[in-house]
This record gives sequence, structure tokens and C-alpha cells, in this order.
Amino acid sequence: AAWEKQVRHSSTPRRVNGFSVLVTGAAGFIGSHCSLALKKRGDGVLGLDNFNDYYDPSLKRARQNLLSKHQIFIVEGDLNDGPLLTKLFDVVPFTHVLHLAAQAGVRYAMQNPQSYVKSNIAGFVNLLEVAKAVNPQPAIVWASSSSVYGLNTENPFSEHDRTDRPASLYAATKKAGEEIAHTYNHIYGLSLTGLRFFTVYGPWGRPDMAYFFFTKDILQGKPIDIYRTQDHKAVARDFTYIDDVVKGCLGALDTAEKSTGSGGKKKGPAQLRVYNLGNTSPVPVGRLVSILEGLLNTKAKKHVITLPRNGDVPYTHANVTLAYKDFGYKPTTDLASGLRKFVKWYVSYFGIESKHSNETQHFDESS
Ligand code: NAD
Repeated sequence: AAWEKQVRHSSTPRRVNGFSVLVTGAAGFIGSHCSLALKKRGDGVLGLDNFNDYYDPSLKRARQNLLSKHQIFIVEGDLNDGPLLTKLFDVVPFTHVLHLAAQAGVRYAMQNPQSYVKSNIAGFVNLLEVAKAVNPQPAIVWASSSSVYGLNTENPFSEHDRTDRPASLYAATKKAGEEIAHTYNHIYGLSLTGLRFFTVYGPWGRPDMAYFFFTKDILQGKPIDIYRTQDHKAVARDFTYIDDVVKGCLGALDTAEKSTGSGGKKKGPAQLRVYNLGNTSPVPVGRLVSILEGLLNTKAKKHVITLPRNGDVPYTHANVTLAYKDFGYKPTTDLASGLRKFVKWYVSYFGIESKHSNETQHFDESS
């Protein structure tokens, strides 16, 4: 296969004791940023992505082009392809897996529930099945989500808060991932670190997310929907800038304990950890819109509508004390400066006219 040739012949410079990381979802938003950051600091990176069309795949191809300019190769394949995953681990002695591939989006789960089960549950299990049998086992850092807090009413959200009331099937599959990780850690000694991301935004972001399609609609003069809760409170999100999240992912990889298991046999306790990676300051969606209006120098046509029961939660708010304590995670980008960078990228990518014709099919407030 093309990837095999590429990988076997690559003379990727590595840091002393550098990692060799399999990044799943590498053509995705967070995966592409993390791949670049790992490569820049000298780690070996190989990507995996199925380039599905949940949102415009041309954006995934553009990210792939960017990565290939930095000699990062993405194998085109699915998490559910066991023989492919086994082959990848045969060819490359991965020290770590950064598992970001998933079916994202809260609302789309009502249209296509099976795609969540397939990628987020079956695909995750398939990856763990392959990883457990590799000797030595790679340490795995994977994407969970703030959505696991569901109808939690503690504020801010801490890792030990209730997560037994998911508000969407997406959230339920992310929560299931955490339970599945527990069993693979318990039985096979796999080292597993889950990261609960809070509404991540920035350049090369996801077109199905509010900040992205608000920007597009404001530039095109189209009306935008702003949600409020059923008791008329503003919907707020703990928007987290991509560079902060990337630092968190790398910090989690750096502190991931080596597995103690090998060849599928349990040898002793390895770590199972879960961390919030948020910004610690929720912003009402109305404020998001006024920042965008300022940056785009255009007034938005706003429709305020009451939040339907479609899986969105009223607010998210991260407590990140644990991630700070364990790997120094400290978000440093406020929403206005992060959005400035996003808008700058957006305009250079699509042009100020933003006449890109590929209409986004699915819209989401958060994940
Ligand atoms: P993304 O959709 O841009 O990236 C995911 C990538 O995974 C896509 O490129 C997709 O093609 C790929 N993929 C999906 N299913 C696959 C499969 N079965 N096999 C191979 N590849 C597959 O999303 P993102 O925003 O970069 O999210 C990355 C991870 O973080 C996801 O697990 C997501 O659930 C989680 N997350 C994201 C946010 C956020 O705000 N962006 C918040 C919480 C959690």
C-alpha cells in the first residue's frame, strides 16, 4: 500500500526518546492541529481518517494537503477495519495513540444514529482490541466530550460530577467510550487517558459548529438562530481555543503512563484518567455573535428561539484543576482573540465574499 512505502521509507527525525504517534481523525479539525504540533516538536506521526462526508470533505482534503507539506501522511481507512489497524501496528511501533476519530455533532444523531454507534462505540472497541494485543502496548489518549455531563447542574463541571444523564445519543456514545475504556484498562492493563473537550473552535474548524456557520451566514446576510433555554436563559458555552486544546492533548500524551500489560495479558494496574479540557469561562451565544459582528464589521440578522429538546444542553463550564495539576494545562486564549484568528483564517480560506458553494448540511451548537 502507498502508506506502507511512505512510512517504511520516511526518515522522520525524532526527538531523543521521541514518540511515534498514531493520530486517528487526523484529517479532522483537532486531529490536524495536533498532528502538526507533534511533528513540529519532533515526534513521529502517522494519521488515519476515513474522510467521511458528515461535513464538506474538501476541507478535510485541504487539511491533508497542509499536513503532507509537513511530511505527515494520512492513511485512508476506517476504525472498523481490523486488518488495516493490525497492519499499521505491525509496520510502525507506535508508542502512543491519539484517538480523535469519531462521529461528532449533537443534532445529527437524530438523523443518523447508527453512524455514532459505528464510529464511537464499535470503532473505538476495534481500536482497543488491536492495541491490547500489541507488545509493548501503546498508551492511548482519546477524545471524550463535555457532553457527558448532560443535564448535570453543578457549575463548573468537575470530573467527578454525575455523567449518567446524557442529553443526546452523541453524548451517550462518548459516555459509553469512557466505560469501555475502563474495562480495557481493568482487564488488559491498557493505559488510557480520556479528554473531555469543551466546544473547541479556531482556524480549520468544523463547518457544522455555531461560530463557523454564524460567520458564514453573517457575511452572506442570512439570518441566524440564537437559542435560549426553555426558562428564557441565554445558552452559554465554554468555548475553548484550539491551541489551548492542542497543548492539553500533548500534555496528556507526555504524562501518559506506559502500559503494564503486554500481549493481551494483564500484568498490573495501568492508569485510567479522565480530564476536562475547557476554557473555564462560559460565554452566552449572544456575546459570541456580537464579537463576530465586530470582527466582520457587519450586523447579524438575529432570530431568538427557544431551545428545543434536540440534545443541546443549556450551558457548559469546565473546572480544569485536575489537568493543571497533572500536566500544567492552562487555557490562555479568550474568545475575542481566538475568534479574531478564526475569522482571519476564514477570510483567507474562503475569501471575504465567502461564496463557497458547498452548503453545510448539518448544524451544531457544541459537542
Ligand atoms: P472532526 O469531525 O473534524 O474530526 C473527526 C475526524 O474523524 C474526521 O476527519 C472524520 O473523517 C474522522 N472519522 C470519523 N469516523 C471515522 C472512522 N470510523 N474511521 C476513521 N476516521 C473517522 O471533529 P473534531 O472537532 O476534530 O473532533 C475530534 C474529536 O474530539 C472527536 O472525537 C469529537 O467527538 C471530540 N470532541 C470535539 C469537540 C469540539 O468542540 N470540536 C468537543 C468535544 C469532543
